[in-house]
Formats: sequence, C-alpha cells, structure tokens
Amino acid sequence: MNYYSLNKQAPNTSFKDAVIKGLAPDKGLYFPESITPLPKEFFYNIDNLSYSEIAFEAIKQFVSPEIPETVLKTIVEETLSFDFPVVELNKNISTLELFHGPTMAFKDVGARFMARCLSYFNQDNTNEVTVLVATSGDTGGAVANGFLGVKGVNVVILYPSGKVSDIQEMQLTTLGQNIKALEVNGTFDDCQAMVKTAFLDETLTSKMQLTSANSINVARWLPQLFYFMFTYKQLHNKYEDIVFSVPSGNFGNVCAGMMAQQLGLPIKHFVASNNENNVVTRYLQTELYSPKPSVQTISNAMDVGAPSNFIRIQEIYKNNFEALKENVSSYSFSDDETREAMLEIYNDYNYVADPHGAVGYLGCKSHLKENPEAHCVFLETAHPTKFLDVVEEVIKEKQPLPEQIQAVMGKEKESVLVSTYEDLKVFLLN
Ligand SMILES: *Cc1c(COP(=O)(O)O)cnc(C)c1O
Repeated sequence: MNYYSLNKQAPNTSFKDAVIKGLAPDKGLYFPESITPLPKEFFYNIDNLSYSEIAFEAIKQFVSPEIPETVLKTIVEETLSFDFPVVELNKNISTLELFHGPTMAFKDVGARFMARCLSYFNQDNTNEVTVLVATSGDTGGAVANGFLGVKGVNVVILYPSGKVSDIQEMQLTTLGQNIKALEVNGTFDDCQAMVKTAFLDETLTSKMQLTSANSINVARWLPQLFYFMFTYKQLHNKYEDIVFSVPSGNFGNVCAGMMAQQLGLPIKHFVASNNENNVVTRYLQTELYSPKPSVQTISNAMDVGAPSNFIRIQEIYKNNFEALKENVSSYSFSDDETREAMLEIYNDYNYVADPHGAVGYLGCKSHLKENPEAHCVFLETAHPTKFLDVVEEVIKEKQPLPEQIQAVMGKEKESVLVSTYEDLKVFLLN
C-alpha cells in the first residue's frame, strides 16, 4: 500500500517508508491511498475466525507487499498474545477491556505491532532508527516495552515531569538497554512540540533516521482498528446497533475505529468522549476548530490540546462537517463528573473503572439519553491500578496490583531532565 501526506506537498511513499519516517517531509500525516472494504462473508463468518485471523485480514491491504503474508501472520500473532474481553454492565452498556497487555493500556497493541514491523525492515541491520516519542502517560510505557531489545532501534521518550502517574513513570524509566527517558520541565504539548521540531531539524535528520511511535505513525495507529472488530465478534449475535464511546486524546483510537467502519464493520455511531481538553467537542458544536493549550486532569492520557489525528478524521469524512456530525458525537466531562462516574460504576455494577474508561462511560450515558435502544461499548483503555491514587481515593477500597504492575514497582528510575529543545538536541547528538 502506498501512503500520501495529508499536507499534499510530499511524494507518496510505501508502507515501509511511512513507518520509518513517521511524519511526511511536508509535516503531514500519512494516509493510505485506498481503503478496500472486506468482503461481506468476512463479517458473516467472523464467529469462526480467531483474533489473529481477523487482524491479519483487516490489516493485510495496508502493509503488503512490503511485509510478506507469512511474516505478517507471525507479527500479528505475537502482537496479540493477550485477551480483549467485552464485559456487559447492563443491556445498554458494555466495556471493552484493552488493558490485558504488558503495560496495561491499549497502546500495547500498536507499539508491539510497530516494533515488529521496524524490526523486520531492519533485519539486515542497515537502517538504524531512533524512535522519538512524546507521551502523556501510557505511550511511553507501551513503546518502551514493545521496543525493548529490538536491534537497530534506539528509543527516546519525552514525558512531562510530575504529570504522569507513578506507575506510568516507572514503566518508562526503569527498563534500560535501548530505552532512554527524558523528563521534560513542561506539559505534554511541550513534549509533542519538541518532537515535532526535532523531526524538522535538518542538523539532526541529516545525522540520524528519526521516527515517531505516536499514533501519527501508521504502524502504531492502524492496528488499533482490531479492537472494534474483536468487539463485534463478541457482541454481534446479541446486539444490532453497536455504538462505541472512545475516551479520546490524540484521537488515534477513535480514528482507527472509523477505519474499521470504512472496511465494512457495522458500527452504528461513535462517541468521542473528552475530558476538559475538549477541542473536538467544541468543534462539533460550533464548526470552529480552535485548539487550546492542554489542562491537567485525572485522565492524563487525554490531556491533549491539539489532537494530531483530527486531520485524518477530516480526511475520512472528506471535510464534510454534516457527514462527520451524522456519525460522531462528542461530549466533554469534568474531573468531578469523572469521579462520580467511577463511583457509580463501582456501586451499580461492582466494576472498577479507571478515569479514562469512566469518561467513556459518561459518553455512553449521554448518547443513550437520545438513543435508548443502542448498545454502547466504552473502551476501558487502561487498567485502574495504573491510576491507583485516584481510583482508591474514589472507591475507598484497596486494589490488588496485577503482576505486570508489581513487576515495575520499586525498580530504579533513570531519566534525564530537559527544559528546552536545545537540551533535547544535545542529548540526541551525543
Ligand atoms: C492514549 C490514551 C487515550 C487516548 O487515546 P488517543 O488515541 O490518543 O485518543 C485514552 N486513554 C488512555 C488510558 C490512553 O493511554
């Protein structure tokens, strides 16, 4: 598959090149040249397919021929080595648990898939790559874990000092080897801006191949469309009108859901659920897109002021505001509302949600007010113990720590403090 830049000022390129570059030379995000819907039989037959088979069929067109089918089968199987259960709370609301991977957030799937693609492209050790990534919380850990020990790949993670949870910080600062963590004196937006500046800095890019492992990278973004298919497999015999409420920050996940829909997956509607960083909620109300600096919330992985993937969503809907509005709603919720929702989910369903999932749950409730017949699935994007302070304070109950979390507790943190872009550059050049 070839990819074009959404800024339309750079040449089209192969999947391999799009993955290695991350961002197009004109700063545009890459987008596939075509999307061919899967045959109807694929969906009729989905009960008989394993998750790996579903994922293989769904992603094949986007990565071939650069990744041969036999290699792709292995990549998909290794990526999906854990479960994706749907838990029904009541006849109108379910949650899709995306936290059963090694770092217990949904980003494990994209990070593991991308790491294996890069590793394949670098099998003869000629393309040493530096993955430079900004994280608002969970990307860092997922990327660190997914890329640990991958030959020919150095990973540099920028995270906002004091604005990620303790467990998130441990997950990205304690691995060593080819993983380096930079602690930025600033916000996630500052981290993201530094990464973008680095990509455009020729004094850097002439010396090293930089790529991104944020959802701007097609190999990180596209595998997220699997989640929506796995949910369909689990629910389609029971519910007809399936709606997804996606807790959104950079809007990669919800945009991947829209790609699943383009592939023919019957999805009734999307709800993009926001915390107070609500540029898209405001856009859908006013048709005015006005990014604002991010504010800190208890759902920190969604503290994004200028969501990178919004432009891909515009492309999917061909910049047609009415078509977008028909298919997507968006709501924004405060931290107080989020805490109340966590408590409600716990009291009413004996289920412990993390703050991001709780925002998704609130999105479902808002949608169901107008559409009482729908079945709304909110994505539980991280395990509640990743946000232990908030969760235990709200539900007033100690949480047992899963194995994956225990494994990083008490390990020694290693990070380098940076304040300016110059600091980052000096670090990279050394
Ligand atoms: C990254 C993240 C999100 C936001 O996902 P986007 O694809 O950036 O919209 C939501 N919840 C959690 C827990 C995350 O880590």
